[in-house]
Amino acid sequence: MARKKIVAGNWKMNLSPAACNELVTALTAKQISLPEHTEVVIAPPYVYIDRVAGLLKDTTGFFVSGQDCHQKTSGAYTGDVSAAMLKALGCKYVILGHSERRGYHREDNALLAEKVNTALAEGLDVIFCCGEPLEIREAGTQNDFVNAQIAESLFHLDGAAMARIVIAYEPIWAIGTGKTATSAQAQDMHANIRSVVAGKYGQEAADNTTILYGGSCNAQNAQELFAQPDIDGGLIGGAALKADDFAAIIAAR
Ligand code: PEP
Repeated sequence: MARKKIVAGNWKMNLSPAACNELVTALTAKQISLPEHTEVVIAPPYVYIDRVAGLLKDTTGFFVSGQDCHQKTSGAYTGDVSAAMLKALGCKYVILGHSERRGYHREDNALLAEKVNTALAEGLDVIFCCGEPLEIREAGTQNDFVNAQIAESLFHLDGAAMARIVIAYEPIWAIGTGKTATSAQAQDMHANIRSVVAGKYGQEAADNTTILYGGSCNAQNAQELFAQPDIDGGLIGGAALKADDFAAIIAAR
């Protein structure tokens, strides 16, 4: 099994309905043809998922993702959205553990383990985000920090479930700051993540695990980052909001 390359755009809480249509229409108009084992994923705000899924339905290799989901399957959780709802609207993926969810919503590794279970059980594949804050990077303990995030939220899974996880390494100090990890820093961490997955699930499973880089990735730096042997694409924030930039990043995969 060849490991998948993915370029995923996380729109966060951005764009008007009209701008959402415009962006997706501009992207589809580019008629980007993707090689085998390559996917483009768009994670719009919940309220746009239906329309984005509709606009992308004839575009091969393009998929829709939620930006989060609740850990419970249904119930009295005002303001929340379930994994089953995302699946029903056509999502293939859900992003879990983004640093903005961990920070602003106090999501911890144990809660994320529950969310991962629910998402997988409801038929969504998971883009699982991990990454260290600046003080951990400065202390040089980033590998231990990220390995704990992965172990505590994912390592209860069996091999079949783990095969449905995409890992996105996103150093918090690089998200939305314009400060990218160097390709060497990113490659080091991705190699570390792959070796930790290999230790738990075996080398073949690790070799098949897609590991994305995220954090100020843009049309200028994507090529160098994606050329690293353990970087299998990117999770893109700001640069996913402009069709030309996002298309250039897709081309760099
Ligand atoms: C993100 O939030 O997932 C992200 C990578 O953002 P940006 O590309 O804007 O740094």
